[in-house]
Amino acid sequence: MTPMLRLYNTLTREKAAFTPIDPANVRMYACGPTVYDAAHIGNARPIIVFDLLFRLLRHLYGEAHVTYARNVTDVDDKINARAAERGITIRELTDGTLAQFHTDVGDLGVLMAEDVNRAGEPARFIEPRATDHIAEMHRLIEGLVAAGHAYVAQGHVLFDVPSMPDYGALSKRPLDEMEAGARVEVAPYKRSPLDFVLWKPSKAGEPSWPSPCGIDAAGRPGWHIECSAMSWKHLGQTFDIHAGGIDLIFPHHENEVAQSRCCFGTDVMANVWLHNGFLQVEGEKMSKSLGNFITIRQVLDDWPGEVARLNMLKSHYRQPIDWTLRGLEESSRMLDRWYEAAGEAAPDAEVPAGVVEALADDLNTPAAIGELHRLAGTSPAALKAGAGLMGFLPRTKAQREAERVSATGIDVARVEALLAERKAARAAKDWAASDRVRDALTAMGVSVKDNKDGSTTWTVAG
Ligand SMILES: [Zn+2]
Repeated sequence: MTPMLRLYNTLTREKAAFTPIDPANVRMYACGPTVYDAAHIGNARPIIVFDLLFRLLRHLYGEAHVTYARNVTDVDDKINARAAERGITIRELTDGTLAQFHTDVGDLGVLMAEDVNRAGEPARFIEPRATDHIAEMHRLIEGLVAAGHAYVAQGHVLFDVPSMPDYGALSKRPLDEMEAGARVEVAPYKRSPLDFVLWKPSKAGEPSWPSPCGIDAAGRPGWHIECSAMSWKHLGQTFDIHAGGIDLIFPHHENEVAQSRCCFGTDVMANVWLHNGFLQVEGEKMSKSLGNFITIRQVLDDWPGEVARLNMLKSHYRQPIDWTLRGLEESSRMLDRWYEAAGEAAPDAEVPAGVVEALADDLNTPAAIGELHRLAGTSPAALKAGAGLMGFLPRTKAQREAERVSATGIDVARVEALLAERKAARAAKDWAASDRVRDALTAMGVSVKDNKDGSTTWTVAG
């Protein structure tokens, strides 16, 4: 029996049963990275959390029945400035940064296109790039102007916020309050201080595209329009789930809703809106000025990706998370215990109900992890299956140990040869030779253990 999925919806501020528009194609969109620089550990949170939701949806509805689009923002002020600094095109810059992002999140156990998509079948995981969707943006912008929800002024196209009576419904900011609070100094081309840019003229040297709405000068899109364009192209006018970080609710998601609904004349853009909480580091907000700005790669230099993934999922996604060294150490010990318990077991065919039920309750990962702890003491095969659903324990204990050893760069053949030498020395009761071999192994970082049954095992420190 499939448990009922319940999700907390920012739109209604309630947790409710999830009903897909079409169970044969459950559609989810998440705002992805802006690829101008190495992604930081805060950027990893939505990627990991919504990867878990994607895995859960695939489990509940079937792998062929879930489509996930996670966009890549590959044009914006920071990207333009960085590319200009280096004297390269934005595509050259963002291709490089995107490749690094893929390596980073792949190491965090996040499903990638090659894990999900099958030749000859529709793509189930899509990573659309903003600059590949300029034509769709034009159609949206022109549709909004035609519908009386946008206007052209001084080479810009602006969304006419007061033309949408329920603007602010997602972020729960009533229009009149926002109007009263709007700053006095407003760009002269705006009719209302709340109006936002759909398209703007490019300055000299900035990337540019032909403009919509008969505007002569070349220009570039505002930020919000890209997600309306990409979600429409890949998921349709209305879809099931829209996800992102809590900082995106206003203005980004509010403006996406305004654009899509006013262009298509729909009541909703997405039925369910999910937002993950903030991440701070050792109790402080992460910032470059505080010097506690950590990239995903820096975390991965010190810890296996699996430890970082567990450390992220130990907190419920809506709660703020405090990223600490202590937390990472604890996560590392937790995984050691699970690997020890799972040993060489193959996973059960069925994912244990307790794990699925916990995740189906608005992705209650602390409860699901608690369930894995319980299974670690009772059933290695069930532990493997439950952990597998969450993207953990992809290897057996022996495979993990072999990987760990190979990551240290140790020459395994040399270790084996030394151990054979030591065995021979001990058999000949040549204790001095045996000690010399042991010292050589210690110098290599190898510690040797003589077991009660007469066998010898070895491990590598750290
Ligand atoms: Zn977005």
